[in-house]
Amino acid sequence: MITDLLKNKIAVVTGGTRGIGFEIVKLYLQQSAKVVLFGSHQESANKAVDLLKSENPDWEVTGMAPELGNLQSVEQTIGEIIEKYGRIDILVNNAGVSARESLYDYTEEAFDNIMNLNVKALFDCTKAVAPFMRDQGGGCIINTSSMVSLYGQPSGCGYPASKSAVNGLTKSLARELGKDNIRVNAVAPGVTRTDMVANLPEDMVARVTAPIPLGRMGEPTEVANVFLFLASDLASYISGAIISVDGATLV
Ligand code: NAD
Repeated sequence: MITDLLKNKIAVVTGGTRGIGFEIVKLYLQQSAKVVLFGSHQESANKAVDLLKSENPDWEVTGMAPELGNLQSVEQTIGEIIEKYGRIDILVNNAGVSARESLYDYTEEAFDNIMNLNVKALFDCTKAVAPFMRDQGGGCIINTSSMVSLYGQPSGCGYPASKSAVNGLTKSLARELGKDNIRVNAVAPGVTRTDMVANLPEDMVARVTAPIPLGRMGEPTEVANVFLFLASDLASYISGAIISVDGATLV
């Protein structure tokens, strides 16, 4: 079994406490990276770290909880990580929320909330980390998009709008930061079995999985595998890509 794809790499994963982010953290640790995971609260971040350490006490993993969407808070946390490790090789912008209200019920506050976490937090984290990546000679940024960024969805317009913005940031930053040897890519998962879909009613899950040619939801590890590939040197010439992991879903 290969265990050194990310040897000597320092990774930061936002939204690393559960779901897809948690599986990314676990895979990175299995491949010898040192990982700092971000959670929405210090308590949930600590809980995720404890869970990982119970699986392997040798894994070097830390939990932190900056206020995502607040550049000052993010910069302070990134500064603490740099002080500890001296570098950040991989940034995974994965934290995200969704909402499904119809336009008629959609509040301005709900729209701002989605944009703040799914778009602005990605901008803030990237802005805080990129100068260190540039100065250390390069790095890799991977953003979590969604299949709905490409197809839209019949309600909850703020979520696909935010994920289309993720694609726009990914493509643009790949072009801007390439000269600094920073690769920027996105993964666009389809319906994946996490808390985000656990709250959906049964009939909606059936409706959502029906048009998936592979006939089922994706598992968080199946999505995380692509984050591993993109973070590794195997993907050294891939930048600006948005990779779908959706079982060939055609909405
Ligand atoms: P999840 O709800 O299981 O996890 C979300 C993560 O984001 C958690 O770690 C949580 O701590 C963090 N988070 C939520 N609100 C936060 C806040 N205000 N501040 C800081 N962190 C916060 O969801 P998931 O399904 O694992 O989603 C992960 C990413 O994958 C998201 O960007 C989501 O949009 C995307 N995605 C999920 C699916 C799916 O079907 N599950 C499909 C496409 C894209």
